[in-house]
Amino acid sequence: MKVHEYQAKEILQKCGIAIPEQIVAFSPAEARAAADHFPNGCVVKAQVHSGGRGKAGGVVICSSPEEAERAADALIGRKLVTRQSGPEGLVVPAVLLTEKVDIDRELYLALAIDTVRAEVVIIASPNGGMEIEEVAAKHPEQIVQIHPGRSLAGADVRVLADKCGLDETQRVKLRDILSALLDYMREKDATLIEINPLGIVRGQLMALDARMTFDENALFRHPELKELEDLTQIDPLERRAREIGLEYVRLDGDIACLVNGAGLAMATMDLIHGYGGKPANFLDVGGGTSAEKITAAFELLMDDPRIKSIFVNIFGGIVRCDLVAEGLVQALRKTGLSVPLVVRLRGTCEAEGRAILDRAGLVRVTEDLTEAARMAISCAGGSR
Ligand code: ADP
Ligand code: MG
Repeated sequence: MKVHEYQAKEILQKCGIAIPEQIVAFSPAEARAAADHFPNGCVVKAQVHSGGRGKAGGVVICSSPEEAERAADALIGRKLVTRQSGPEGLVVPAVLLTEKVDIDRELYLALAIDTVRAEVVIIASPNGGMEIEEVAAKHPEQIVQIHPGRSLAGADVRVLADKCGLDETQRVKLRDILSALLDYMREKDATLIEINPLGIVRGQLMALDARMTFDENALFRHPELKELEDLTQIDPLERRAREIGLEYVRLDGDIACLVNGAGLAMATMDLIHGYGGKPANFLDVGGGTSAEKITAAFELLMDDPRIKSIFVNIFGGIVRCDLVAEGLVQALRKTGLSVPLVVRLRGTCEAEGRAILDRAGLVRVTEDLTEAARMAISCAGGSR
């Protein structure tokens, strides 16, 4: 689960990190009123769950309340497309007004999970700011990574501080910041805390932007974090899937996939990719699914206008293939079928399941996984 910049900055402040004064505005009038608090100018920032806002026109420096009102009017309720948001962009529910500060230097600081080593990694660079991706690609030597392990060593802080060109006072502050953030990350099951830029303002370290991500599977332990969730930032199909109790992740292809079991779903994605197709989603209906859930999942897939074919890949273990087939037939009766459907059924009661689908017609059914994947790809217009 992601949170907005203003929420992440409030958390940073509680961890002892300086942030510029900030006010959230949900309307242009609120933005105008808030701008009165910043006589030396302010920055109006679109609040969306994405970085790259600066380059997309989502960060606007304003020198008067009128300018702030206009900037807010141009952002609130509109969609902002950034290099991270996907082509459809994210709707802007609010803007953040912050004091405009004079920045001496922009550093990069992040705490993330190194998934290969299964531990926290601290990433820092003296060259933070909007070009960080380019810095990482063209000048990897300007990025330093430290694995702090159980406790943060003074020597590690020194490496980071030296790389970032910090003086003694700033180094001590960096040490305090990092130990507070490491504690916070462990306590709240955060998977990412990114401060970019970590500015040097009047000689002090100051968080000028912040992003945080929390492990959704651990949210039951943190009801106070769950309250920070903003559903406007979640894809509508993902939201619906969550309500039905399905594991659904939107991807950028055109072959809709309905699979039972996360392992089989991953293997299905790999197979489609391997044969040159592109899945539109990851969808795991669960190991012991019911006919109702299959119907609901199928309806959800059919509501995605991007899809060119549907690939249902079910392995009947606990779930019976005939029940899955029933669920599909019910869904087909309700929604009709606007794109080709390929079904691969194996396992418990597969013959009965296939007989049900054969009677319903319309459907391409096969037992062979590779053949099924190829069929779904060719129905979607072939490999690319
Ligand atoms: P994003 O990462 O989404 O592009 P940021 O919040 O990092 O958005 O803002 C982009 C750039 O805007 C920063 O790199 C910084 O140069 C400038 N900026 C951000 N906040 C302020 C501020 N309060 N005062 C002055 N400049 C700012
Ligand atoms: Mg930023």
